[in-house]
This record gives sequence, C-alpha cells and structure tokens, in this order.
Amino acid sequence: METKISSSIEEAAEFLNRSQLVAIPTETVYGLAANALDKAAVVEIFNAKQRPSFDPLIVHIGNKSDVALYARQIPANAQKLMDAFWPGPLTVVLPKQEIIPDEVTSGLDTVGIRMPDHPFTLQLLQQLNFPLAAPSANPFGYISPTTPQHVFAQLQNKIPMILDGGPCEVGVESTIVGFEGEVPVVYRLGGLTLEDIRNVCGEIKVEVNSSSDPKAPGMLNSHYAPQKPLYLLKDIASDFSFDNSVAIIVFGDYEVKGNEQVFNLSTNADYKEAAANLFSFLRMLDTDESINKIYAFLLPEFDLGLAINDRLKRAAYKI
Ligand code: AMP
Ligand code: MG
Repeated sequence: METKISSSIEEAAEFLNRSQLVAIPTETVYGLAANALDKAAVVEIFNAKQRPSFDPLIVHIGNKSDVALYARQIPANAQKLMDAFWPGPLTVVLPKQEIIPDEVTSGLDTVGIRMPDHPFTLQLLQQLNFPLAAPSANPFGYISPTTPQHVFAQLQNKIPMILDGGPCEVGVESTIVGFEGEVPVVYRLGGLTLEDIRNVCGEIKVEVNSSSDPKAPGMLNSHYAPQKPLYLLKDIASDFSFDNSVAIIVFGDYEVKGNEQVFNLSTNADYKEAAANLFSFLRMLDTDESINKIYAFLLPEFDLGLAINDRLKRAAYKI
C-alpha cells in the first residue's frame, strides 16, 4: 500500500469513513487514527503499531459537548479542566459509555478522551460522524513522531495516508488526568503542566510512577526509546572530555568539554521550545551515523521540564 502525505482533509475523511487508518496532526504528536466506534478498524491500529492490546487508546473529539456521548459521568473538576484547556494537551479519563468498544479501552470501564488543538484535525473531526481513536503514530516503544516525515519513516506502506499539518507545536504527549471522586489524579505528565491543573482544581494527586501497571497509562518504564544507548547526566567533571561520536542533549547554558556534538533543546532555557524539539532531536541523533552514544542532561523540575524529564528517563531506561 502506498502512503501518501497530503493536506486534504476530505481525502483523510474518505479513508476514515472506509474504516482505514490515517495519521493525523495534533499539537502534541502525530496520531494514528481510526473510527473509534469500529472495532475492526481499532484492531488495525494495534496491528500497525505492534502495540500490546493492554495499552488503551485515547478517543479524540471535535466538540467539547461530545464528551457526554462517550463518558457516562463527568466530575465537576473534569468539566472545569475541559472548559479551561480544551482544545489542548489534556486527556481526561472518565467512566465510559457502552458505545465505546472494549478494544479501545483494553477492557477498562474508563475511557481517555481529548479534544486536540490542531485546525486540520478539528475540522476533520467536525465533519466525521464518529470520534477517532488515536495513539501516537510510531511503532510501540519508539520515539513519538512530531512531523509527517517521522510517521512516513516508519509507517510507510502500512497506512494509506498521513494528513500533513506541519510540525507539532507542543511536541510531547497530552497530560492524562483521572479522578478519585473530585480529586484529579495525574497518570501521565505531558503538555499541560501541573501548575495549570492546580490553578483550576486546587489539590491534585500525581501517580506517574507505577510502571508496568496498564492502569497507569502508557507508563511503561521503557518507552520513547531510541535504538542507540542514551545516558542521563547530572553533571560532568570539568576536566572530562568527550569524543565526537558522542551527542549531548543540553538545555540553556552549556560549556563544551571536548569534541562532543552539542544539541541544545533551547539556548534560552525556554521549556516550550525544548519540548517541541525533544523528539525531533532524539530521532535525528538515532539516525545520524556519526553518533554512537547519546547523553542528556535532565532539565530543572519545573513547568514542562517535568514532562521532558519523564520522557528522557523512560528513553534511557535499561532493564
Ligand atoms: P499514546 O497515545 O500512544 O500516548 O497512548 C495513550 C495513552 O493513554 C496510553 O498509554 C494509555 O495507557 C492512556 N489511556 C488511554 N485510555 C486510558 C484509560 N481508560 N485509563 C487509563 N489510561 C488510559
Ligand atoms: Mg505512544
């Protein structure tokens, strides 16, 4: 199957209406989308990604009010968060309506729902008669795609179309929030910061560490991983020297130590810019043949630094 890269929303809708898969742009990362109400189409997503069936998908909607079609109960704090941050990088996990197939939720009684903030995908969703189930458009466990070319590099010939919406503006996945009664529980750090959530809801819980428990969404210890070894750095002795097969990912000020190739996520120490660059940098370094090893400094644990560090730690995780 030939994979076309095109900006035609109509064409994307045609493929989706025929139960086929289309990669879609969002502000976080590119998604691999299918009709969320069509079990067979949803199973194709798992096949194309080689994603284990225990890892549930997020359902994408084009209108805020559609959430009630797919969730049977909406805590007041969930509503407040949706009102404040949709469309945007926030996924809410809510008790599901029966119309959502078990294939989407991996048999859970809850469903993750999000309204993405990308003009093409919003238009597409608004013209379809169904929501889209879409995980990130990459083989399971690998670095998430933030450009159409990233998707093409790995899914060419497996899907008929990539809807080209340019590079993703946020660059890390959505923040996933469930609820214990009214208390928001953050399951995955992402493009919406904890400060943003606290400003709307007050007290929150953060439970992002429970690794291989599938209820702790997509939070496997090893994920987002390049094929080359990646090592995390706290600091480097001042007399240490790297050779030029080493790439080092830094944030803000950095003094060159030897012949290392330096990749600065943001020379101005801007968290948004760093998040937007992260996955592109990792992919570029993974495919650059002059590089054997990747080192990365963790960022300060503020703002999007938390989500970026989460991705770097999982990318570096060794069994
Ligand atoms: P991806 O889009 O590939 O980043 O994956 C979506 C993530 O959302 C997965 O890792 C899921 O674990 C998580 N997720 C989706 N639905 C649920 C749910 N009902 N409960 C908990 N986590 C969910
Ligand atoms: Mg993913």
